[in-house]
Amino acid sequence: MEITFRGVRGSYPVAAPHGVRYGGNTSCIEVWTGDTCLIIDAGTGIRTLGKELIARDQRDIHLLISHTHWDHVQGFPHFAPQHDENAHIRIYSLAHADRALADIFRAQQQAPFYPVSIDDLEARIDFIDLQDAQSFQIGEVHITCHRLNHPSFTGGYCIEYGGKVLAYASDADIYGPNLLGDGMKNGAPELEQVRREHLQNSARDLAHRADLLICDTFFLPGEYQPDWGHSRPEDGLRLADEAQVQRLALFHHEPHRSDEEMDAIEERYRKEALCDLFASVEGMELSL
Ligand SMILES: [Zn+2]
Ligand SMILES: [Zn+2]
Repeated sequence: MEITFRGVRGSYPVAAPHGVRYGGNTSCIEVWTGDTCLIIDAGTGIRTLGKELIARDQRDIHLLISHTHWDHVQGFPHFAPQHDENAHIRIYSLAHADRALADIFRAQQQAPFYPVSIDDLEARIDFIDLQDAQSFQIGEVHITCHRLNHPSFTGGYCIEYGGKVLAYASDADIYGPNLLGDGMKNGAPELEQVRREHLQNSARDLAHRADLLICDTFFLPGEYQPDWGHSRPEDGLRLADEAQVQRLALFHHEPHRSDEEMDAIEERYRKEALCDLFASVEGMELSL
């Protein structure tokens, strides 16, 4: 598995001197398993990747969307393979209760918000709505989607290939006290506790014995907001420990975090981690 971080910021892209080294684009991870191209999330980091996929004539593209908050889909209208009549883009995401994935993408990419409607693109685009804990196969790659604790409908992905496991858990408040997803709140206390345990077990299943866990660590402890749906590095360390993860990537960085602050966070949490740990940087490449 060949992995490249294309965008590592949370919430919105930043183009400012404070974050040039870690990068300002929002969530996007490029994953190659042999000739199969997987992309996790379509934040603004997907734009340059699209141009490269055109250049190498990659026609089959599998896009795994965690959820449809802007920082995870906003790059899609600028993804050049949309305009390649030979391209076939399959877009996967956890199903919403009330709207099809295709309709959510259509709402983002239409006038007056964007000049070219998603219905007028040259590429073939298929939308696949997933259920919680659903597994599926793309060639020799085995993928499972698990629901996570975050507003709306949010899924993480466990990607298995060639005996290696990549886990992606962003966005998520993994151990938070509040149930944040649509349809999860306002139950009896016992029911809420069952749901809370289910979501935490889902995160552990997702990350189980992963060679690499890419984890939302947006907040520092003093910044934590229990209703926003994001975790702290402490939560990532706890999940990595409970799920026996080999390597943890801090991800979905707070947009105003400076390069120096990111360096300090990485150094601090490396000392506390039982596994290998690094702060993800835009452009970083690694192999599993
Ligand atoms: Zn996000
Ligand atoms: Zn989000």
